[in-house]
Amino acid sequence: MNKISLKFGLWFLGAMLILEMSLFFFLHTSIVDSRIEEELAALQARGNSHRDVLEDSYKEETFHHIAVMEAKADTEVIITDQNQNIIITSSKFDNEEQKIITKEIGKVPRDGEIMENRWKSEKYISTITPFKINQNQKGYVYMFRSTDQIQSLISRLNHHFITGAIMILTLIIITILFLSKALTKPLIRMKLATEKLSKGDFSVNLPDMGDDELGELSRSIKILAEDLKHLKEERNEFLASISHELRTPLTYIKGYADVSRRKDIDETIRDQYLSIIFEETKKLSDMMKDLFDLAKLDKNTFVIDRMEVELCSFLNSICEKMLPAFTEKGMELAVECKKNVNVLIDPMRFEQVIFNLLDNAIKYSEPHAKTSISVKRDKGMVLLIIKDEGRGIPKGDLPYIFDRFYRVDKSRSRDTGGSGLGLSIVKELLEAHEGTIEIKSEQGKGTAFFISLKELP
Ligand code: ADP
Repeated sequence: MNKISLKFGLWFLGAMLILEMSLFFFLHTSIVDSRIEEELAALQARGNSHRDVLEDSYKEETFHHIAVMEAKADTEVIITDQNQNIIITSSKFDNEEQKIITKEIGKVPRDGEIMENRWKSEKYISTITPFKINQNQKGYVYMFRSTDQIQSLISRLNHHFITGAIMILTLIIITILFLSKALTKPLIRMKLATEKLSKGDFSVNLPDMGDDELGELSRSIKILAEDLKHLKEERNEFLASISHELRTPLTYIKGYADVSRRKDIDETIRDQYLSIIFEETKKLSDMMKDLFDLAKLDKNTFVIDRMEVELCSFLNSICEKMLPAFTEKGMELAVECKKNVNVLIDPMRFEQVIFNLLDNAIKYSEPHAKTSISVKRDKGMVLLIIKDEGRGIPKGDLPYIFDRFYRVDKSRSRDTGGSGLGLSIVKELLEAHEGTIEIKSEQGKGTAFFISLKELP
């Protein structure tokens, strides 16, 4: 038996024992008391009926008649005169009886009284009834009943009680064993499950435990296991992607640096190699910056400083900054936003969101393609749509497009050269703004991003 069931069982057993014992004690005393009372009342009634007979016919014959009657019964009678001198006894008269009939008596009520009721210590219980002849007190009828019979009656009763107590106790123990198993089994399963979790084994297999608190706990543990598993997988994937992403530029850098070190190399080729090294280093440092941002977003240490911003003028100013990049590639950028739309954003972070999306529009579009930004309002929400006429994203890639390091073109083309972190940063930044982002894209036609934010009244 495990510790918790033992503890639970002992507490329960203790409580039940106290309950059972006090109940039995109460029951036993009240049964015994009422039994003795009944016996005494019967004895007194018998004495009273002898009195009636005596008062009816006070003669020798009646005495004998009473004595004979009692000799055949379980009770005994002693009739005395006014001075407690024995007139007749129904059986052999002994010391104990002598003690009782010589007891000083005061005025005894007509229906008699109890002379001895200490059934545990004395040999007899006894009552006394006075009788009168012609209105004069003539004597007393003493009734006796041996306490042996009562003792044996009580011991029979005790025997019943003990048998009952043993039966109930057995039942209680069986119930405790059953209950403690039923209660502690799921707890122990959960304990083992969490131990497994802490050792890094996430294959938690807990059965459905119903709707009570135990069920809720087991569900929470299952959710926790799934979350931990997911986290671990994500971390492994993330580390694998990082090392993969770092390896490519580093290989370039190492290779070109190695060649550039040679003495016999042409100066122009060396310059070319050095600029490749410079480009790759720049990409690496950009990636490091992005990763750092993501790590900060993850740790929730990322503070966004939100303020009320008028979205249209804000977008127009970003577009102005970005326009040269578009025109350089022969592309067009249009902002469609005339309304006075106020939102609560961190301007620096939100600029990064728009910048990442517009940068992608440039990277993944052919010259002369158009990109547009439009703003719509809908039921207290602001919908910001950034749409391009670029190469689009295949349907199969769309669900993963916001994942870290996810790129449609897996072979890292050196001219576009993205790290696959841009969109995941966009998503996390928007979530920090309590906003959402959705994507619609058709291969060969273009991509549209739908950002939704709360509008300030
Ligand atoms: P990257 O730095 O590679 O651009 P992102 O996270 O910004 O990383 O984008 C992930 C991938 O999604 C890109 O590699 C690209 O294939 C695809 N993508 C993103 N934006 C667009 C877009 N506007 N048009 C077409 N493809 C896009």
